[in-house]
Order: sequence, then structure tokens, then C-alpha cells
Amino acid sequence: MNQTIKLFRDDELKNRIIKKTGGELLKCYNCGTCTAGCPVSQIRDFNPRRVLRKINLGLNVDEDIWQCVSCFTCNARCPNGIDIAKVMDALRIEIQKDKRAGKHANVIFNRAFLETVENYGQLYELGMLMKYKIKSGNLFQDIEFGLPLMLKGKMGLLPHKSGNAKAAREIFRRVREIEERDEK
Ligand code: SF4
Ligand code: SF4
Repeated sequence: MNQTIKLFRDDELKNRIIKKTGGELLKCYNCGTCTAGCPVSQIRDFNPRRVLRKINLGLNVDEDIWQCVSCFTCNARCPNGIDIAKVMDALRIEIQKDKRAGKHANVIFNRAFLETVENYGQLYELGMLMKYKIKSGNLFQDIEFGLPLMLKGKMGLLPHKSGNAKAAREIFRRVREIEERDEK
């Protein structure tokens, strides 16, 4: 999604990411080792080095950062020990705060996923898909995959609540509390 953070002006994004992740990314010297090891970069137009570079230069990040699968390979390889995966996470969080980005399918999917985990303490696939489809308007996308899964009993009609649902809700509550505190 070339969404992205055309939403942020000047150094706003850079400052937000630095605040969220510490100043670590300022240590990046653009060597490209992270990109060389990134499995997504091998098959898609995605480049973690470029993402960090753009942030550091105060430019808009227009990469599809939702392609990052949080595998941490870049972290393991970075000679400066920069937590690149955390930077990607912080970017996703910042994007979701903006109402305009909220209309993007990836953001809608992410929210639908988290809402079902918050409600049931575990993923409720059908509930998540219904939320996603209604909000995104992609009603028939991938339907040829969904129906066989349901027919084979791989995707339940009704949600199962985890015994730890209460604890999961508490985690979400605390995370919101931390985010609100960090925003101040
Ligand atoms: S965490 Fe993301 S950016 Fe880093 S190597 Fe994995 S997919 Fe690539
Ligand atoms: S490996 Fe580390 S120092 Fe090199 S470009 Fe990636 S983040 Fe920057």
C-alpha cells in the first residue's frame, strides 16, 4: 500500500518514531545489511534500509510497510543492533492513528484481527473476516478459499472464548493506557 505517511508533515513522523523506539534508528549508516537479509525484500518491492533512510531524512514513507512479517532477521543482522522490526511496528501504529489511513484494507484487517482477540482472548476467524469484509467492502474477495475451509470445519461458525479472555482484555486496556500516556 503506497498509503502511507504522506499524512505527516516535515519531521513529524521522524520525531514520533524516535520517541516510540528510542533514538536508535539515528545510528543507521545505510549499509543495507537489513535489506540483504529481509525475506520479503527478496520477493517484493520492500526495503527496510530505505524505510529507515526516509524516516531519518524526514521524508514521507510511502513503502508498503504492512508487508513486513516481523521475522526479526534484520535485527539479527544489523551491525548496529538497531531494532528495525520495532520501527516497522511503530510505523504501523502511527499510520493507524490517522483517520484517512484507517480506510485502507490493511488497517481494517489489522483492527478486525485485534478486536476479535480482545473480545474472545483468541482469534475468531469468521468474526474477523465478517468485520473486515463489511468495513472494507471487499465482500467477495477470496471467497473461494473461505467456503471450503468452513465446509471442512477448519473455520468455526461460532466463536470460542479462551479461558484467558479476561487477561487478554486487560492487556489491551493496559496497552491503551500506555499509548495515551505516551501521547501526552
Ligand atoms: S522484520 Fe520485517 S523488515 Fe525485518 S527482515 Fe523481517 S520482514 Fe524484513
Ligand atoms: S543493517 Fe542496520 S545500519 Fe545497516 S541499513 Fe539496516 S538498519 Fe541501517
